[in-house]
Amino acid sequence: MELDSRTGRSAQPASTGLGWPSGPRRAGADAVGRLALGWPDLSGDRTHSDRPPPAPVSRETSVDRHIDKDIDEDEIERRMLTSFVPTADESTPLAQELAENARRRIDLHGRTFPAPAATRVITVANQKGGVGKTTSTVNLAAALAQAGLTVLVLDNDPQGNASTALGIDHHAEVPSIYDVLVDGLPMQDAVMPCPEVPGLLCVPATIDLAGAEIELVPMVARETRLRTALMRYLDYRAEAGLPRIDYVLVDCPPSLGLLTVNAFVVAEEVLIPIQCEYYALEGLTQLLKNIELIRAHLNPRLHVSTILLTMFDARTRLASQVADEVRTHFSDIVIRSTIPRSVRISEAPSHGQTVMTYDPVSSGALSYLAAARELAERSITTKGSRQ
Ligand code: ADP
Ligand code: MG
Repeated sequence: MELDSRTGRSAQPASTGLGWPSGPRRAGADAVGRLALGWPDLSGDRTHSDRPPPAPVSRETSVDRHIDKDIDEDEIERRMLTSFVPTADESTPLAQELAENARRRIDLHGRTFPAPAATRVITVANQKGGVGKTTSTVNLAAALAQAGLTVLVLDNDPQGNASTALGIDHHAEVPSIYDVLVDGLPMQDAVMPCPEVPGLLCVPATIDLAGAEIELVPMVARETRLRTALMRYLDYRAEAGLPRIDYVLVDCPPSLGLLTVNAFVVAEEVLIPIQCEYYALEGLTQLLKNIELIRAHLNPRLHVSTILLTMFDARTRLASQVADEVRTHFSDIVIRSTIPRSVRISEAPSHGQTVMTYDPVSSGALSYLAAARELAERSITTKGSRQ
């Protein structure tokens, strides 16, 4: 290990212990062209403390209806209700959490999110398994749909976990994404509505999809089949006078094979869930390199637009350390709302539900709702993939 001649300490960045590849910070991203990936330029020694402080939580005890003429009745009611939530200090963490949840519930209840200018296609990817890809896909999708948007989930993982969580039958005979990819079935023949959430649609995955990685290999245009199918489906909806799909979220398997390549070619944006655990960042360099390869050869518009911190456990210092590290490196693309580790989130799929319907007032549901709101509000500045 290289030692600093002045201090005698290791010259490696302190972050290596969190799973960053050794060498200079963000070596992987630099190696594949950091700015080309659309990362914010951090070279100006921008640190965590440069970020604007979080918006203060309102503790006002009265609401002046004349403060701002632009706010609507709902907003006035929200502010009024928030003023009734008791305050709690750090000596009572449970009361503090309950009060925070109550404020968030009031703030988010009944809100509609802005529709993007064009359909946004977002691939949820991370080649590590168990980091919350599927959980984030289905819960963000449900939250966006509950807020009035039309959302399509493409379950592109042979495990079919997203289909299960959305309560969609996906036994072997069901028309699925396998038929779309391998047999050229029109996507509209495989789209199913999610029974619990109006406005949420899903193309399920069946076990057949496990064979698709191999069956796709000799096929013509094997990398672009999902994209072609989706574009045709969006055209079909427009011609049939059906509502425009606002968001397409693609759930990926934990590998970088042809299914994931198809998912990178169909999308313009990548959302990477990062689990707030040890080694969370290991393998990220490989993922970024692959995204850069796809950019160079198959899809020049692909970029990492969003990072979501999942399974955050506020009681551990490690979780905060990982979160700080990710925010320092990736700055503004990290969603402010972290997703807590929550039993309700992990229980929901066994009931064929997302946490958004299973326990809508739980902290897990509120966090996904807040994250979905951020995602939607950022779309104002994000160019859509399709007019
Ligand atoms: P991936 O799709 O990346 O493999 P999953 O979304 O399937 O990951 O999550 C892996 C496991 O962790 C699942 O059992 C899921 O229920 C659980 N899980 C995901 N997010 C959370 C969370 N925030 N709190 C508790 N358990 C979670
Ligand atoms: Mg999964």
